[in-house]
Amino acid sequence: AKERGRNNYQFYTDAINQRALERMQIGSALRAAIEREEFVLHYQPQLDLDSGRVIGTEALIRWRHPEMGLVYPDRFIGIAEETGLIVAIGDWVLRTACQETKRLQGLGHPDLRVAVNLSARQFARSDLAHGIEAALQDSGLEPCCLEIEITESLMMHDVDGAIGSLRALKDLGVRLSIDDFGTGYSSLAYLKRFPIDNLKIDRSFVSDIVSGHEEAAIVSSIISLAHNLRLQVTAEGVETEEQLAYLRNRRCNKMQGYLFSKPVPAEMLPALLGACLPA
Ligand code: C2E
Ligand code: CA
Ligand code: CA
Ligand code: CA
Repeated sequence: AKERGRNNYQFYTDAINQRALERMQIGSALRAAIEREEFVLHYQPQLDLDSGRVIGTEALIRWRHPEMGLVYPDRFIGIAEETGLIVAIGDWVLRTACQETKRLQGLGHPDLRVAVNLSARQFARSDLAHGIEAALQDSGLEPCCLEIEITESLMMHDVDGAIGSLRALKDLGVRLSIDDFGTGYSSLAYLKRFPIDNLKIDRSFVSDIVSGHEEAAIVSSIISLAHNLRLQVTAEGVETEEQLAYLRNRRCNKMQGYLFSKPVPAEMLPALLGACLPA
């Protein structure tokens, strides 16, 4: 029956309708998913390149759908954003990441940090700082152990408004990081006005640093830029020893990527937290 269904997508409009249908289906299933507690967080270790040790994790959401199996965020975050459901989902992510990290700290990793991704809708809400404060208080996690990741495009719509929102978060004591740095149309002139702590170099540049001259130049420039602005810098998507060597050479501060570990369920983290990068 599945084969026949596929042959029926002869017309362009059918394909569009099919996509619209899938979006509607995912949209309504997402609503139920919150109540049924079908979401789960996986955590990807972030390592300090000087010590080679795990200093924190990035929380990444997955959806355990009863029929579709494990669904990755690229398939549903956009829909959640459009429908506004991202606000409730984002709140669940924040609370869960804080709670689970607090628990891991108690297992002998007192300084463990967690980074959480924020969507545009969440960032635009006036009660954002309140929600984060509540998640910290309810979990008992220290504010300095929570890092918030936001993309540059999210801040460029309304620069002054964004600076105000970021200030409110900084006042709570959380760390701020710019995600996917280099892919948006960030203005370097604004960068120094944002009260941020860290830049994350997008995976697309990191993946080609060994073979591509331009990518290597971009990565190297971002690291220098960050350091000149007294920011830390994280490379994401590090998959090979060669990439790691390049990043260490340029004094990049932190790395995250399959070379050390994929994102894993919270239960698997304790086994990883004691591990080290080769010197
Ligand atoms: P992102 O924030 O840029 O997260 C990094 C993505 O790269 C993750 O994909 C991660 O699994 C993947 N990755 C990490 N290391 C490597 C590597 O070495 N090689 C390769 N090929 N990939 C690597 P994931 O988990 O599928 O998440 C995709 C995107 O979904 C995230 O991109 C983020 O924008 C969004 N997302 C995930 N969780 C949340 C969430 O809780 N809230 C919001 N608003 N967005 C989220
Ligand atoms: Ca991220
Ligand atoms: Ca990223
Ligand atoms: Ca990305």
